Amino acid sequence: MALSVIVNPSAHGGLAGRQISKLKARLSNAGVDAEIHVPQSRDHLCRLAVQLGGSLDDTVAIVGGDGTNMAIVDALLQHHGSDPLPTLALIPAGRGNSLAKDLDFTDVDRAIAALSNGRTRDIDVARFVSDGVTGHFLNCMGMGFVTEVDQTASRFQRLGDLSYIIGVFHRTLRLRHHKFHLDVDGQIVEDQMCFIEIMNSRKTGGEMLMAPEARIDDGLLDIVWVSRVNRRNLMKTFPKIFKGTHGSNPAVHFLRGKRITITSLEHQILLPDGDQLGATPVTIDVLPRRVRYLW
Ligand SMILES: [Mg+2]
Repeated sequence: MALSVIVNPSAHGGLAGRQISKLKARLSNAGVDAEIHVPQSRDHLCRLAVQLGGSLDDTVAIVGGDGTNMAIVDALLQHHGSDPLPTLALIPAGRGNSLAKDLDFTDVDRAIAALSNGRTRDIDVARFVSDGVTGHFLNCMGMGFVTEVDQTASRFQRLGDLSYIIGVFHRTLRLRHHKFHLDVDGQIVEDQMCFIEIMNSRKTGGEMLMAPEARIDDGLLDIVWVSRVNRRNLMKTFPKIFKGTHGSNPAVHFLRGKRITITSLEHQILLPDGDQLGATPVTIDVLPRRVRYLW
């Protein structure tokens, strides 16, 4: 088995790049012998993953956050189509590391130990098609309020985590609802909604327990949406998401399914794994246990 390590140097605001020598020492202490690759750009990151994961005997260890992981999985799926993928490993080094939490990688040492203990775990990948373009996500895809918050936060990116708090407050003051039509395996929902999140993992944005009952390997996606709420109601419910108790608010709805089509009156920008990419109408389905991680 050939193990290659790809570090996204810009993960966690550049922290991953600044800690490469520390990572080398930790890998060496754990008896892991692997070459470390540091791509120059996102395109280079994807090309490297395809190149280093060329054969089924290869293992590609990803050092980064949810965005890095999603970019690599998407690149491998675009390249390999329906053929089997190389095995992956994940060393959490991003801001949120939501997927790593569902894999029980609560710290870096636990993730490094997985590189050599021989265990694996197969997890689901969500696939979406928007305007004829196919993409993938591992954590979640949001639209509505959550995309609008991201749009504001990206203007304040230099402020790090604070940018999201600014985004939440700004967009709550200008709270908007959108009419969405959902088809979940033939079940129809039509409502004015604040936002929709299609969840593969339980958490989003690091610690927000959006879908407490979701499982990353059950072949199903957990759909969470918030129907019409006022600002006060939204702000009161928001902190509950960190404990996953937001479902006590009757405006919060959950549904589970395999194939979801979402349309809306106006095009709504999609937010798969934190990237603004594509717009409604969108169809999402599950590729059950499509990716294998060392575990
Ligand atoms: Mg699931």
